[in-house]
Amino acid sequence: MSLACPLCGQALTQEEKRALCPAGHSFDRARQGYLNLLMDHSARGHGDDKAMLLARREFLEEGHYTPLLKELCALLCRRFPEEGVLVDAGCGEGWYFRGILRELASAGKRVDGYAFDVARDGARLAAERRVGDETYFVASVFRIPMLSGSADGVLSLFSPFAEEEYARILKKDGLLIRAFPEREHLMELKRAVYDKPVENVARADVSRLWETVEEKRVQYRLLLSREQVKRLFAMTPYVHKTSPRDREKLEALEELEVGLDFGVQVLCKKG
Ligand SMILES: [Zn+2]
Repeated sequence: MSLACPLCGQALTQEEKRALCPAGHSFDRARQGYLNLLMDHSARGHGDDKAMLLARREFLEEGHYTPLLKELCALLCRRFPEEGVLVDAGCGEGWYFRGILRELASAGKRVDGYAFDVARDGARLAAERRVGDETYFVASVFRIPMLSGSADGVLSLFSPFAEEEYARILKKDGLLIRAFPEREHLMELKRAVYDKPVENVARADVSRLWETVEEKRVQYRLLLSREQVKRLFAMTPYVHKTSPRDREKLEALEELEVGLDFGVQVLCKKG
């Protein structure tokens, strides 16, 4: 039992059709099986829209990011306990979490899985493809409806670095696993579209709350067809920030070789 009532903070018990706290706050389960635990109305409508989530699902299922997923799986197989609570904070449509749960299960680990996204479509798409009995819900990374000290592992894969909440929900010796774009990630795509492409910002400084246990960099190149380039573009935040003129440059590409450049960090809480 790791979920916390978003209204009063007490433990939530999951029933078939709802989740319930001792104070009587009740949250209905949607038909697809996820819970809506987002109480902050200002956060509604944030997160990725459905078109972006579907483009991402299609692109990821073609396997282009599998080298990154394999690295994450290998890390977790080595470092996650034989039995424990794993949380994917900002899971999107859930491709990484599904892959990780399957890999940990085949390594014989018993994982109590929780994944959430601020986008309701993310939680819904993820819940539709559940692997086992993991829990999906709608919530913000900045206010996670989980009990303090309840998680053995938190995944923050391209999601905002809400470090105080991650530290709060982790057990004392729990691990935070981050993935983020490194400097050269998708630069060719940006160069092909923008006159002045911006490099990815330097990674966040984690030293205030975290010790670094391990760092990895995953770099490789892909040759993408015109359709794949369009899907890749549609799954990124650039899609909403690009002028019609720059979009035309994208449409004109026959194919594109791009460099993928991911950083992965395994962190534990200080003190
Ligand atoms: Zn309550």
